[in-house]
Amino acid sequence: MKKTVCFLSALMIGVMCFGCVPKIESLIPTEKLEGASVFIKKVENVPDDFMLGMDISSVLSQEKSGVKYYDFDGNECDLFTVLAKSGVNTIRVRVWNDPFDENGNGFGGGNCDINAAVEIGKRATKVGMRLIVDFHLSDFWADPGKQTAPRAWMDMTAEEKGDATYGYVKESLEKLKAAKVDVALVQIGNETDGAIAGENTWENMQYIFKAGSKAIREVLPEALVAVHFANPEKAGTYMAYAHSLSEIELDYDVFASSYYPFWHGTLDNLAKVLNSIAITYGKKVMVMETSYAFTEEDTDFSGNTIGEGGTFTKPYPFTVQGQVNEFRDVVDTVVNRMRDGIGVIYWEGAWITVGQNSWEENSELWEKYGSGWATRFAAAYDPDAGKYYGGSAVDNQALFGPDGKPLESLRMFNLVKYGNEVPVKADAIEDITLSFDLYGEITLPGTVKAVMNDDSKTELPVVWNVTEAELANMRTGGVKKYRIEGEAGGLAARLTIDMVEHNLVMNDSFETGQLDPWRLIDRGHENELYVEKKLSDSLSGQYHMHFWSAAEDSVDFSLEQDITGLEAGTYKFSMSIMGGDSGETEIYIYVLVDGVEAGRAPLKITYYNEWDTAWVTGIVVGEGQTVTVGIFVKCHGAGAGAWGKIDDAKFNHDN
Ligand code: CA
Repeated sequence: MKKTVCFLSALMIGVMCFGCVPKIESLIPTEKLEGASVFIKKVENVPDDFMLGMDISSVLSQEKSGVKYYDFDGNECDLFTVLAKSGVNTIRVRVWNDPFDENGNGFGGGNCDINAAVEIGKRATKVGMRLIVDFHLSDFWADPGKQTAPRAWMDMTAEEKGDATYGYVKESLEKLKAAKVDVALVQIGNETDGAIAGENTWENMQYIFKAGSKAIREVLPEALVAVHFANPEKAGTYMAYAHSLSEIELDYDVFASSYYPFWHGTLDNLAKVLNSIAITYGKKVMVMETSYAFTEEDTDFSGNTIGEGGTFTKPYPFTVQGQVNEFRDVVDTVVNRMRDGIGVIYWEGAWITVGQNSWEENSELWEKYGSGWATRFAAAYDPDAGKYYGGSAVDNQALFGPDGKPLESLRMFNLVKYGNEVPVKADAIEDITLSFDLYGEITLPGTVKAVMNDDSKTELPVVWNVTEAELANMRTGGVKKYRIEGEAGGLAARLTIDMVEHNLVMNDSFETGQLDPWRLIDRGHENELYVEKKLSDSLSGQYHMHFWSAAEDSVDFSLEQDITGLEAGTYKFSMSIMGGDSGETEIYIYVLVDGVEAGRAPLKITYYNEWDTAWVTGIVVGEGQTVTVGIFVKCHGAGAGAWGKIDDAKFNHDN
């Protein structure tokens, strides 16, 4: 109300008055945005003041690096304007005490100090968006992995850090207040899982938390005071934090959590954990950070946290629609499955590439303007950052493409309240990999698994672009992988065919632990001759055939099996042995076809773990013939007698 009055008085006197609230023209739409192509099921009961926000802490560095943002009509546009017009009603900004080295070089990650926060806050306020201030109480990134005190506080006791926190937070908030920034919420610390500003006991941490809260209450009594933690999936930890906060009698309003579905468990768990805190401790709750990838590809030549080959949970496809479905489900969970859920903030949705050409070109900008996640100057404070510094690690989770044009997912901030149930269609097709035996049949699947834009799963018929001749070539083309493209539900489908060599020997590596179906023909009187389980003595797996004899001239046996049902063709056979103390030996593998020898190849034993492998190749087999494969072992022994291990028989087509 105050703002309207000032606006009117400014109009009446015909000029803008200095020192009064600047003109606010909220650009946030109060109706549904039409024309979106993404599917979104309406979230019921979203309160009018529910925070649907975005963290854009890197924006000033991005702009200085030359990044341009566009609106949905393709016109270059101020980022704050685009966001407000898309329904973003809250902007979050991180604040580091002093993210610069002694020569004034920024540590990166937006070089976000309080001055940057003031500028971001003013621009947000101007278009009707409120601000969340995220004090890390550190000179650079604070998260569950590190909560380093600012350099100026390093030698302070916990109590002194409390005083420093009070002074710093108070002074910072006064700057925001003086700039007429509309601050909705202030958080004391960022992802403070068990530590803050270099302190990690509640006895010490309480000084910092309490001082932060006191400063916020004094300067901005209307703003909410929040604490923020990061691992809801760790059973019991949030309840323990809330309990400790209650024990130290911290005056706060909001218990906030990060929620990245890649690592942070299910939404069911999140709902349960935050709701019990809301009920038990009477706190408001919210998701302070979330985001989702629209692609696995990196676009700024600096690797991403969520990229190819990583280990993480992927509950939605990496598509623009996947981003919408993730955000929608998080909002639904916070609104409808928690008491007093007050908001969801999308993290760094505009942190895109600063250039299209090369790492070198981008790196120059990241270093100069702090538009990457860290610069080399951060080394003195944060050794990891100094080592791995680079660009955006979340450009594939932005809500803008690498060209600065908004993705359709940006509209979700508005649409989540209204829904946008466009016709259901396929959004992503699951890649398939199938293994086939060489010379066997290749059967292509007739359907593929699809995720639809409404997040339902279904099987869709697929057409593969491959000819009979190409399949025939794969059948006989050796051990190889092939990629077949196809089409399902209007989308590309991909099938990887993995041609493998089928080993026609049964129990080829003795992994059944039994001899069967091998036949043992024992002509000697060995002390030991059996299938043995011992990983260190096996060529593959953990079993092998073992022999040992104390006496000389006592090792004399054969081991063989029959293979039937072969198609006519040319084959090869191999087997491996190691051992020692053998004296004179006669060891060879052999192949019989219908009882007639078709080839043999010699082997020798020398010493421990020196495996010798022999091959018999070019074995011609006719339809219906029986092949016998085996190994003949005869050792005269020396000293303590011969010993050895036999493993890994292979009988395959010989190309
Ligand atoms: Ca990147």
